[in-house]
Amino acid sequence: IRENLVRTEKLEAVEQMGAAISHEIRNPLTAAIGFVQLLQEQRLPPRKRAEYLSIVKAELESAEQVIQNYLTFSKPSLDKIEEINVKKELMQVMNILKPTANQNSVEINAHFSLLGSIKGDRQKFHQCFLNVIKNSIEAMPRGGQLYIETHYSISQITIEIKDTGVGMTSDQLQRLGEPYYSTKGSKGTGLGMMVVFSIVRAMDGNVRVKSEVDKGTTFSFTFPNYSSEVHRE
Ligand code: ADP
Ligand code: MG
Repeated sequence: IRENLVRTEKLEAVEQMGAAISHEIRNPLTAAIGFVQLLQEQRLPPRKRAEYLSIVKAELESAEQVIQNYLTFSKPSLDKIEEINVKKELMQVMNILKPTANQNSVEINAHFSLLGSIKGDRQKFHQCFLNVIKNSIEAMPRGGQLYIETHYSISQITIEIKDTGVGMTSDQLQRLGEPYYSTKGSKGTGLGMMVVFSIVRAMDGNVRVKSEVDKGTTFSFTFPNYSSEVHRE
């Protein structure tokens, strides 16, 4: 009986997830289709064409991201362990999110320490910070400042993501990372932070969050410093 119960619960979880996912994928796809239709218009000024194309690209990337989060949730193990150049990866994530930040009048302030690598799955590291930084941008619907900083010590690498956004109450902070916990209504899946926590855990990292309503939020990640481990050998 217990096994059956577990199976039923799993099935419910899958159904619930399926509904959230299909919704989350449908929104960006519908937007992409809409802009492709506009692009089919013959007499479109080149500037408009470029703008629509970049929107289509962003919407498709967003759908891609939802699928990635779902896959990480259903299979959270790290598949490919390698040395991750922290600065390089964060720069890539920044470049992906720059258009979204611009659209939201969010100014990005990046400050990277020169050195620093950690050990883990590069693709998942990427996804982790994409989720975190995306949340920060979404927390500033009327614009603001986003700070991305890394610090380096012999034993660890610290990555700080700070925003001047809406912030969280202590209750919201408590629930952060709970599956499907989202305050964004139909615009959110509530999977992003859960995936973040599971990736950080798998990489022997740590997260600390400080948040104040209407002031902003700071995420502080620490990972073991792999570069110094290599030099010691
Ligand atoms: P989603 O973004 O789909 O809502 P997440 O798991 O990424 O799901 O985030 C869960 C919730 O945590 C968000 O809905 C939001 O309420 C809160 N949150 C996460 N990051 C921030 C942030 N930087 N500032 C304010 N709230 C945040
Ligand atoms: Mg999110």
